Amino acid sequence: MVYTLQDWFRDHRDSSEDLTYHEPVRYSTPRLTPMRYQKEPDFLWIEGEFYKGWLHPSKPRPTILGMFIIPYPSDQSLERYREYRHSVESVLSSNPKRPQECFYGNEQVLFHGTTRRCQLGVGWFDVSPCDDASCRLCGIVKFSFDVNRCGTRNAFTRFGRGIYTTSCSSKADDYVHEKPGAQVRCMIVSRVVVGRTFELQHSAVTMTEAPLGYHSVTGRPGGDLNYPETVVYHNDAIRPAFLVVYR
Ligand SMILES: [Zn+2]
Repeated sequence: MVYTLQDWFRDHRDSSEDLTYHEPVRYSTPRLTPMRYQKEPDFLWIEGEFYKGWLHPSKPRPTILGMFIIPYPSDQSLERYREYRHSVESVLSSNPKRPQECFYGNEQVLFHGTTRRCQLGVGWFDVSPCDDASCRLCGIVKFSFDVNRCGTRNAFTRFGRGIYTTSCSSKADDYVHEKPGAQVRCMIVSRVVVGRTFELQHSAVTMTEAPLGYHSVTGRPGGDLNYPETVVYHNDAIRPAFLVVYR
């Protein structure tokens, strides 16, 4: 039997409707929590998604070396995300077009590659984000995503000013930028409230929000795209959840 995303979310929500099986781990600084290989259901599930999403035939399949839980940046941050997800869920439940839209605002777990300038994630004890403003990974770990940062590294934004994620890990890997000589690569796994998504196959670079009645844009392969991507235009539609370390 195939273990689906919906199964995972069902198994990972308790009666208090927490986002994950794990209680959010809170520190005065947002330290990562290492996950134990094969002891954590989340690890195995994300590992499967990572390898399944490695689609570029030109890229050798990497090996996952470890994984970490990214804590919520703050209670307020978590609350804003939940409020946003609930608002999307409410709107869609009143007018569903597809069954999965109504399920927690069509929340999905998607990959995001970014710049790392420090040692975060390299070893079991490298769990504290740095203060280097150019280290986008640590910025996201500490404060979550910011749509205003869109395009600061990649001038071309296919679907305009938004936050880009993908189910294709090898595509997210294109946006993982490490220091020369880095021994490992790190990729963020995010929770994304995809909601009702507007599908496009061709670039629409001037977009600043999803079309009326939609919550995101999904680029479908064909047309201008070789691999899928999903764009949200609202900071509270996404939170970092896990960090995958691979080589
Ligand atoms: Zn850093």
